[in-house]
Amino acid sequence: MEGLSTSDMVFSIVVTWGIGLAPPLLMRFVFFKRPLGRFTAIITCSILFFLNVMLFIFLGSTNKTHGALAIVALVSYWILTKETKMKDIIASGRRESAKKLETKESDYILCSNCKFEQWSGYSECQKCGANLSQ
Ligand SMILES: [Zn+2]
Repeated sequence: MEGLSTSDMVFSIVVTWGIGLAPPLLMRFVFFKRPLGRFTAIITCSILFFLNVMLFIFLGSTNKTHGALAIVALVSYWILTKETKMKDIIASGRRESAKKLETKESDYILCSNCKFEQWSGYSECQKCGANLSQ
């Protein structure tokens, strides 16, 4: 590595990660637009790993690069199997608003004396004055 300058190092890291991560990112977000099954993801990552290693050997890479490629393969697997968080956010947002509606519903009670519907925060009925606190 003594012949490499810092800019060469940075460049090779960017190239390694760029080339390594472009295919899984494209597959995940452009072609499939959904997470792959674990088995499919493992096969895909293995194939990409071997293609990358062959490519980098062809380019005259060092063993250090192959270690980086192994990490790239792991990250690729994570990208391919990752669930889009957006779906969860929307789902939890729906749950949240549903909960709010529920709370709103239970914020109203019926007076046991005159059956007048009113906000549960009152301590006595707004119509007949009966005690509402239980
Ligand atoms: Zn009442």
